[in-house]
Amino acid sequence: MSRYKIAILGGGPGGYVAAIRAAQLGAETVLIEAGELGGVCLNGGCIPTKTLLKSARVYQELLSSEKFGISIDGEVRIDWAAMQRRKDGVVGQLNSGVRGLLKQNGVEVVQGFGEVLDPHTIVVGGERISADHLIIATGSSPAILPIPGLQEALESGAAVTSTGALTFKEVPQRLVIVGGGVVGMEFAALFSSLGSRVTVLEKFTVLGSLDQDLQKYMQRLLEKKGVEIHNGADIQRFAGSQVIAEINGETREFQGDAVLVSLGRRPNVQAVSRLGLELERGAIRTNERLETSIPGVYAIGDVNGKQMLAHTASAEGLAAVENIMGGSAVINYDKIPACIYTFPEVAMVGLTEQEAVRRGHKVAIGTFPLAANGRALAEGEPEGLVKIVADEKYGEVLGVHIIAAQATDLISEAVLALELESTVHELANAVHPHPTFSEVVMEAAHALLGHAIHVFKR
Ligand code: FAD
Repeated sequence: MSRYKIAILGGGPGGYVAAIRAAQLGAETVLIEAGELGGVCLNGGCIPTKTLLKSARVYQELLSSEKFGISIDGEVRIDWAAMQRRKDGVVGQLNSGVRGLLKQNGVEVVQGFGEVLDPHTIVVGGERISADHLIIATGSSPAILPIPGLQEALESGAAVTSTGALTFKEVPQRLVIVGGGVVGMEFAALFSSLGSRVTVLEKFTVLGSLDQDLQKYMQRLLEKKGVEIHNGADIQRFAGSQVIAEINGETREFQGDAVLVSLGRRPNVQAVSRLGLELERGAIRTNERLETSIPGVYAIGDVNGKQMLAHTASAEGLAAVENIMGGSAVINYDKIPACIYTFPEVAMVGLTEQEAVRRGHKVAIGTFPLAANGRALAEGEPEGLVKIVADEKYGEVLGVHIIAAQATDLISEAVLALELESTVHELANAVHPHPTFSEVVMEAAHALLGHAIHVFKR
């Protein structure tokens, strides 16, 4: 039986990052992974979707090349198989990078499904592994709700989850997406850009986690781009690739050539069921140190259900290791950004206006449209806006919300502003390079203070 200081179950962005940091800090570390290193993020989530989205963006740019003074003789065609090969290449390259990093740092990697027998013992294919501390990083799987016909539709391949949509044999002509959360809407952007007729059925409101102004803006924009959106759709049943939903009291049928079911994700807790850990809505309950109801056993990433994001999983991995090694790391979830890779992109950090008000803040709001930014016009990307939510008294930045072609990169400035507890005056006074998209953040800060430069008076 091998004995380690730290055993980590699951090698996604939570587990592998924790393993490298543990080894860097001198802990004998073992990482147990049943599938591919990098987890859902690298193999079936963040990276493959963004790689395909890049192909879709290039396709759209070529279709609109005349706008940039370039005419293309002949047809611009999609080669879906070649897009898939590119995606697989990017994933493969990153996979071997992760494997190399683990090796270089001296992490022992055990391939196989690990079952936890007790807080110090994991069994993998008959081999027992023993450790002083355990970090559970087993991630999550698509939620399959008990809707009539869904299981059969999935089994027959008439409906797929996100994993299946990444490897469609071809781009479907008609795609019905059930669930208009972040994952569902990223696929809506992907396939509508590649020419599919996309219909989204959402029980509440698509992209409902956004600040309300941005939600409305994005819904309008996606509809303008041809995505058919039905909010308030109550799914009654699946009949193969047909979805039957009740909308405003009317029963309607939506026929797809393919159906993507994107109804959220469930934490993977089966491998640790013997521990009898406390759960909360199906996720492993942890305290602010990421420690579970059993001392010495930690849970990070999707499995603890706090925020199902790759960078949250990694941050929690680093924090859990630091705590095991005697530190006292705590994560402030309000300061973690969230991004949506649609066209244009959406990114946010901190509080929405609605949440800030709910928490008792008197808020001041500043907005600035991308259409008034020189670089955005030069790039042919005038869609979007920035909205800053600040506390009225001292101007402390509470939240920043961006829709822009580059929103997912622009948000990092706002992340730093929140981390440093900056005021909107500091964002406004920081000189931004011209011409850049980043000026929109500074201009929104100026707008909040009542003196935006590049805005016409109404
Ligand atoms: P996972 O990545 O799920 O990894 C868990 C690993 O544990 C898996 O490799 C699994 O094989 C292994 N495992 C499970 N049980 C066992 C066991 N008993 N023994 C051994 N190994 C086990 N997040 C973002 O931040 N940005 C994005 O752009 C983004 N895009 C996404 C797109 C899609 C389509 C999806 C589905 C998700 C996306 N996410 C994104 C979410 C992100 O993928 C997850 O939040 C992240 O992967 C969670 O990391 P994790 O380490 O907790 O778990």
